[in-house]
Amino acid sequence: MIGITSYGAYVPRLRLDRMSIFQAMGWFAPAIMMVAQGERSMCNWDEDTLTMAVAAARDCLKGFDKQTLDGLYLASTTLPFADRQNAGVVAAALNLDSRLITSDFSASQKAGSTALITALESVKSGERRNILVAAADSRETKTAYFYEMWFGDGAAAFTVGASNVIAAYKGSYSVSHDFVDHYRGSQKQFDYMWEERWTRDAGYAKIIPEAVNGLLDKLDMNIAQVDKLVYPCFFKGDHRKIAKNLGAAPEALVDNMHEVCGETGTAHPFLMMTAALESSKPGDHILMAGFGQGCNALMFEVTDQITELQPRNGFDGAMNNKLTINNYQKWLKFRDLIKTEMGIRAEAPTQTATTVLWRKNKMILGLVGGQCKDCGTPQFPKMNICVNPECGAVNSQEDYEFADVPAKVKTFTGDLLSVSVDPPAIYGMVQFDGGGRMMADFTDCRLEDIQVGLPVHMEFKRKGVDKERGFSNYFWKAVPVPGQKTDPNQLGFDGRVAIVTGAGAGLGRVYALELARRGAQVVVNDLGGARDGSGTGSASAADQVVAAIKAQGGQAVANYDNVATPEGGQAIVQTALDTFGGVDILINNAGILRDKSFLKMEPENWQAVLAVHLNGAYHVTRPAMTVMKAKGYGRIIMTTSAAGLYGNFGQTNYSAAKMGLVGLMNTLKLEGQKYNIKINTIAPIAASRLTEDVMPPDLFEKSKPEFVAPLVTYLASETCQESGGIFNVGMGYFNRVAIHTGRGIQMGDPENIPSPEMVRDNLDAINSLDGATELADANAAIFALIAPPAESETEPSAGGGSGEPDVGAVFAGMQKSFKADAAEGVDVVFQFSISGAGGGEWYCEIKDKTCTIASGVHDNAVCTLKMADSDFLDMMSGKLPAMQAYTSGKLQIGGDILKSQLIEQLFTI
Ligand code: NAD
Repeated sequence: MIGITSYGAYVPRLRLDRMSIFQAMGWFAPAIMMVAQGERSMCNWDEDTLTMAVAAARDCLKGFDKQTLDGLYLASTTLPFADRQNAGVVAAALNLDSRLITSDFSASQKAGSTALITALESVKSGERRNILVAAADSRETKTAYFYEMWFGDGAAAFTVGASNVIAAYKGSYSVSHDFVDHYRGSQKQFDYMWEERWTRDAGYAKIIPEAVNGLLDKLDMNIAQVDKLVYPCFFKGDHRKIAKNLGAAPEALVDNMHEVCGETGTAHPFLMMTAALESSKPGDHILMAGFGQGCNALMFEVTDQITELQPRNGFDGAMNNKLTINNYQKWLKFRDLIKTEMGIRAEAPTQTATTVLWRKNKMILGLVGGQCKDCGTPQFPKMNICVNPECGAVNSQEDYEFADVPAKVKTFTGDLLSVSVDPPAIYGMVQFDGGGRMMADFTDCRLEDIQVGLPVHMEFKRKGVDKERGFSNYFWKAVPVPGQKTDPNQLGFDGRVAIVTGAGAGLGRVYALELARRGAQVVVNDLGGARDGSGTGSASAADQVVAAIKAQGGQAVANYDNVATPEGGQAIVQTALDTFGGVDILINNAGILRDKSFLKMEPENWQAVLAVHLNGAYHVTRPAMTVMKAKGYGRIIMTTSAAGLYGNFGQTNYSAAKMGLVGLMNTLKLEGQKYNIKINTIAPIAASRLTEDVMPPDLFEKSKPEFVAPLVTYLASETCQESGGIFNVGMGYFNRVAIHTGRGIQMGDPENIPSPEMVRDNLDAINSLDGATELADANAAIFALIAPPAESETEPSAGGGSGEPDVGAVFAGMQKSFKADAAEGVDVVFQFSISGAGGGEWYCEIKDKTCTIASGVHDNAVCTLKMADSDFLDMMSGKLPAMQAYTSGKLQIGGDILKSQLIEQLFTI
């Protein structure tokens, strides 16, 4: 078997908020607003194609014996050298054995897939054992054009070989067409592009299916057998349409990443492929296609070996390590698209002596220093005499690679005087663990991020560009390890012990990683069973999460016990006591599903679900609470579900169990109060294997478990003083759910029991939630029943409302805030569709300085705006900026989108 044996990804940490492009250039090119959602990745000033390729390759080579590589192919259309082999620079940076073949693949967006097929075929032929294939791109675009919005920078890499294959290669199919949707003439900085509609209809929509269908025919497969479909297409709608026309299930299509990073050129199919591999399971078929003057399609089948792969940064890691900026000028400067005065110091000679570069090649490009054979002391640079004063051996140095050695900041300076594209220049002494130190530049950080002792790692970066001679210089710089800086405001968990049940996957995995990242010692419990709880389980789920926590420098221990038994619960808590000496936090998260409509719900499916969710929480919470009570401190989180809170067809077992947890919490919050034990419940929404077939594909894509973790982290923290709360959480939305009790009415008296007819006749008053309140416990509820509010209190207040503005009132007020002078010559009708209890239809008709606002639907609306009532009120009161409402999806605009910008000009909001 041959195929992919490892993968890695790199996306620059910087992301440019696309709205900032629009805000700076929308006056000139308003149409770019249509693709202004989300953010695009952008290289820092010292990053380029080669630095990104090296970073992705290093991620890919984690746990891989790089000396077994006998080939390295690099694909890109933005290579810094036209005649100096770029792949050779990458090989030198990776410090590979020089006995290997290296080659650049270029001149087409499909160069990555071409390089991959070439590598796979050389391995298949038996000529080569292991080849590293990297793809990276950082394409230049003119300002204020769609390409600036669509494109992103990034890289990804694979190794291919015949042993430890994680995705077996099944075959490929290629078509080549001289289809010129865009091109870049040699020596030109920017692409020239042809008409967009033609590119979509005659290009993507025809050529990708030609290759995909050709491959399926060749392999005698059909599209239904493809579990993940990977191909680039920056037109979001057309990306989906191609899959639909191919007959693929919508959930098989891997997202085109427009919102999170943009299209990364030759790297994009690779990057999407790494995302696909990260979420795939053994047996999945992945079809990957690269488009550009034709198309290459490749088929892979994921093997069991994927579960053995050492954790890597990968696509998810790259996505999570980000800094979003909205400084468009910074983007222009980093891209060298504006000229700034750099001062006379910048005029110092920058010529590179290639003789020195050759002599010191390993040191400069590979960060290779020396280690004394006699005393073992590492040093940088390598010299003839050992730096250890007690040794001082002569000519005793062997090569010593510093690139992967963890390091810490020893000293640092922020220098505003020296030349820098991104002042202040930050540099200082870096001390390597195990010995060796060097002066290094710090990058991908702000001065305030750096502190003495901060862990850093070394990254291959651009040192500078000699523009006169067209030469890019590279060296290694220190980058703070993500998440290591201690922010005094950050919720910390040092010294806390947390148990997370079901932490081998989905939500639990993310909670465990986050708590550990913030200093908690974590028991990662997971039985590793099937989605419906069947099977004997496997240790690998929990083990992988523990390995990932350890890889990020945290502390964790795996536990494979079953929460569904009392012994299992006891053993989980015992693991925490034995390993870390306590339990401060318990997150009851383990879960399974066995959906069936109620009449088909056999007892075993009913019981299995109750056993894991409800009994499981009981089994672990009881021994954990014993420890917490003794310590006088505890934080417990239950996991309920919208299915329990509101009902969901086919989930009676699950709903009952999940609502049972709310009942459990309601009483435990009272019992735990005296011991400083706070108990809360969350109802998450997140993409996981539990929801992959119950959640609409659109929603699935947007709902990463990472959006749930912040609330859980807060509820698990010492800061949290809430207890007894229920919270819906997911996709960036948070709200509280509460059981409210209406004021009700009193009928009858001790002598006269009220009749059913009286109930019937007073149903409206009984049902009314006007003035409803939350009650602290059952006693309060009984008290409320025996002592109902006085008659006058149940009367609606004189104003009939709470005094809060309502949507209708806002529209009435809009008339007053109309700026007639700004509406000279304007002719437009806005239709507002406001959903929610306070919603309805309103329109604003503006005709040359006049404005009519009325409820109802206008026949000739030019622009429609849809939003929820609460969001609308927030927007109109200035709490929610209109741009943010639009980019977050809270405001949906239809019809003539550009006209919507008039609203802020025509009304005082
Ligand atoms: P998931 O399937 O990805 O993770 C659940 C984990 O629990 C699995 O790794 C599984 O092996 C483990 N597990 C199952 N039974 C176990 C047992 N008896 N002992 C120990 N471990 C066991 O699912 P997820 O979506 O991450 O769900 C986490 C929790 O959130 C569940 O309680 C679920 O009901 C709840 N929930 C999830 C959503 C959602 O949208 N994902 C919505 C509402 C509620």
